[in-house]
Amino acid sequence: MSAPSRTPAGTLRPEHVGKTVRLMGWVNRRRDHGELVFIDLRDRSGLAQAVFDARFIPDAALLALAKELRSEFVVDVTGSVVARDADAVNKDLPTGAIEVRATALVILNRADTPPFPIEDGIKAAEDLRLKYRYLDLRRPEMTQRFVARSAVTMAIREVLHEEGFLDVETPILTKSTPEGARDFLVPSRIHEGEFYALPQSPQLFKQLLMVAGLERYYQIARCFRDEDLRADRQLEFTQVDVEISFPTEETVYALIEKVFTRVFPKWGIACEAPFRRMTYDEAMERFGIDRPDTRFGLELGNFPGFEEKISSKVERVKGLCVPGGASFSRKRLDDIEKGARAAGVEWFFWVKTAGPGSWNSNSKKFFDDAAIERMRASFGAGESDLVFLAAGKSKSVFDFLGSLRLQIAREEKLIPEGRYDFLWVTDFPLLEWHPEDARWYATHHPFTSPREEDLPFLESDPGRVKARAYDVVLNGMELGGGSIRIHRSDVQSRIFARLGIGPEEARAKFGFLLEAFRFGAPPHGGIALGLDRMLMILTGSTSIRDVIAFPKTASGTDLMTDCPNPVAPEQLAELHIALAKPPKTEG
Ligand code: ASP
Repeated sequence: MSAPSRTPAGTLRPEHVGKTVRLMGWVNRRRDHGELVFIDLRDRSGLAQAVFDARFIPDAALLALAKELRSEFVVDVTGSVVARDADAVNKDLPTGAIEVRATALVILNRADTPPFPIEDGIKAAEDLRLKYRYLDLRRPEMTQRFVARSAVTMAIREVLHEEGFLDVETPILTKSTPEGARDFLVPSRIHEGEFYALPQSPQLFKQLLMVAGLERYYQIARCFRDEDLRADRQLEFTQVDVEISFPTEETVYALIEKVFTRVFPKWGIACEAPFRRMTYDEAMERFGIDRPDTRFGLELGNFPGFEEKISSKVERVKGLCVPGGASFSRKRLDDIEKGARAAGVEWFFWVKTAGPGSWNSNSKKFFDDAAIERMRASFGAGESDLVFLAAGKSKSVFDFLGSLRLQIAREEKLIPEGRYDFLWVTDFPLLEWHPEDARWYATHHPFTSPREEDLPFLESDPGRVKARAYDVVLNGMELGGGSIRIHRSDVQSRIFARLGIGPEEARAKFGFLLEAFRFGAPPHGGIALGLDRMLMILTGSTSIRDVIAFPKTASGTDLMTDCPNPVAPEQLAELHIALAKPPKTEG
């Protein structure tokens, strides 16, 4: 009889009783009871118990071989599936009602003792997990994240394929794409002193594919941005990148809602279309942030007329009323005040409201009973509430109150568990003024179309020009963003001029795009979704590194391959590169 083909261990069920099966995988655990050796055999599908029982094994060598097994040995076990005795059933294991009575064993490979246990919920330091990432990924909770990742990308591809999108690859060695981050550069050996840039996104190529007439493009694309890392950032990350010809904003919203309503419910997250919409201005006014977490209230409010009381230099006054906040300790209020100062808020007040005529504040100077009454009315503050007021430059006021709102919601446990609020944020400003270098920057990127009706103000009042740009937000997290693009070279040139990119520079950097627009560019627009962030949510992960097979640390190193690393002088010479300083040598 020929050897049976392999069965995934985790799929065995009572209906397999009586069958001869062959399992291949790793020894998760071995228990030796003398005449009886048990192993839990693990493969990607799960665990099953195999038992080497002297009573059923005619060959003493087989039992002896089973006794050699240790954790993480790779084995090939053949045997018959038998039902476990009632008292031996393991209810926690999907295969817990059966076991495999082994009749043959081949040790395919032996293993050293791993540096941490191959099991869920381990306490090992993340650095150690990253150094031995292949072992970390062997842990079932990690393996399952990549099973999910593959299924999610498959589901996304299915929807996009159904909707007529073509999967097109764009170059990795390319020219700088301005997404607002630093480029990774790759020196050219052939062209001395010249460099490629790794793409910050496929932005310009996807637009050119629209000029090329491909009409609907997508790519699960790797993007590279040389940024300082935060918890949910990596130097390289994956976007579901989409571009559509002849769209309106509605075309993009409908498509993404279709993708999300297909994907999220499969992972147990309720998602219904159409998503709520909110303009950027409304998001800022109510939540102080352009990606509001709308799962709870605690919205920002106004205190009309108060700015005149403080100073003529005040740009904005906004406030936040915390119901029941009168119980906040002085220490907590002092810490919040420190936060306000650090955020650059010029005037910060807290006011505890009690009954009429009874109140307390960090500043008596700007308040009297009448002002407090007006404030109570403006914020709907009751008997035991707390009102924070912040005044100064709009940006610091919104930034501070936006994050204070989130901080208090977390501390006071106001965020409902298990709720998922999908939201479109629309009508972003086209441009942002940066006082540090006194110039305008594109809020999204320089290829975003202004609203037609705002075009006349591009030169006279740039700050009021709104973009045809949108973000999709979930529970305060930006899941993606995009825009309807500029498709006319005259408008594109005006935007470049506004951004301080002169005709010479524009030609050098984006001449190919401007030129393409001269040959019949269709109106087009698109979006990019952050796949890694989506996966964090879908798999309930707290770190983006847990959904990336081989991520980098917060300082941008790969601990497994030990990179970045110095290279041989000959390699540098070939690339026409001389180091200004010798590389740091370790050890
Ligand atoms: N390229 C943009 C980004 O990476 C997305 C887009 O506008 O489609 O954020």
